[in-house]
Amino acid sequence: MSLLVVGSIAFDSIKSPFGEVEGVVGGSATYFSLAASYLAPVRLVSVVGKDFPQEIIRMLSARSIDTKGLKIADGETFRWKGYYEYDLNTAHTVKTELNVFRDFAPVLPEEYRDSTYVFLGNIDPRLQMEILSQVRKPAMVALDTMNYWIENRPEPLREAIGKADIVIFNESEIREISGEYNLVKAARTVMGWGPGRVVIKRGEYGVLHLSDGTMFAAPAYPLETIFDPTGAGDSFAGGFMGYLASRDGSDLTDMDYRIATMYGSAIASFTVEAFSTERLQNLSPDDIALRVDAFRALTEFRV
Ligand code: AMP
Repeated sequence: MSLLVVGSIAFDSIKSPFGEVEGVVGGSATYFSLAASYLAPVRLVSVVGKDFPQEIIRMLSARSIDTKGLKIADGETFRWKGYYEYDLNTAHTVKTELNVFRDFAPVLPEEYRDSTYVFLGNIDPRLQMEILSQVRKPAMVALDTMNYWIENRPEPLREAIGKADIVIFNESEIREISGEYNLVKAARTVMGWGPGRVVIKRGEYGVLHLSDGTMFAAPAYPLETIFDPTGAGDSFAGGFMGYLASRDGSDLTDMDYRIATMYGSAIASFTVEAFSTERLQNLSPDDIALRVDAFRALTEFRV
């Protein structure tokens, strides 16, 4: 099994109704890698500036995350500033500073080129395609994005979506991309561009997973303490892809995709309990197994 991710590594400044943090570690690739690393080894492709702390890179490497594909470039690390109102489902971007991502020309380490599972995390779609073109024979390609890229790079994004098997979007993103308000119609429109599966993240309302002929809905875990939803989507994607990669070699069934959805939901439910990656860094396999069980209890019924 080999799970490759490309995405952002960031310093985030976030305000939520429950507090405020400045310059904490974030980014789509960071959340994804940490979440997936509980289920499968990860190969990370990203770029940071010289200002990025070495101890964070060591922390990632210590968790079966291969950081050979992480470039340390002259310049400053990507920065994102955002806030949430009481509706924690919507992140409002205040500022995006691409910094070292502006001139990033990724070259995959030779040993990454045989990766079978690929996650094209939220980043410039031209970089997503550049990475994908260097993977010899990917068996499964999943893609995420954000309103920033939908608005700033619509054409490359549409092309990248056409190369993906699965897209993992939140509900406002899929509505914006497809021009359809109804989520089932929006998913059908996007599936018409190539992907066979669409996973729609709906924040505190959970996840809707559609493919040709199947639909699966998972709730979000009803938590009492939510501090910061940042990274929930990428943590979901990490748990989801990590589970699928861990089943490498077997023919994936519809039930595998359902279980993957529950692992993604379970891991994401921890991310939001603290700011930044704090909670995600300190999980045990038991924590995750117990939360998956709690999801089972939450949704089980018999007629
Ligand atoms: P999410 O899982 O959707 O909450 O993603 C949160 C992460 O996305 C944050 O840690 C940000 O650093 C990162 N991010 C925000 N805007 C962008 C962007 N335009 N491109 C790449 N990453 C971003």
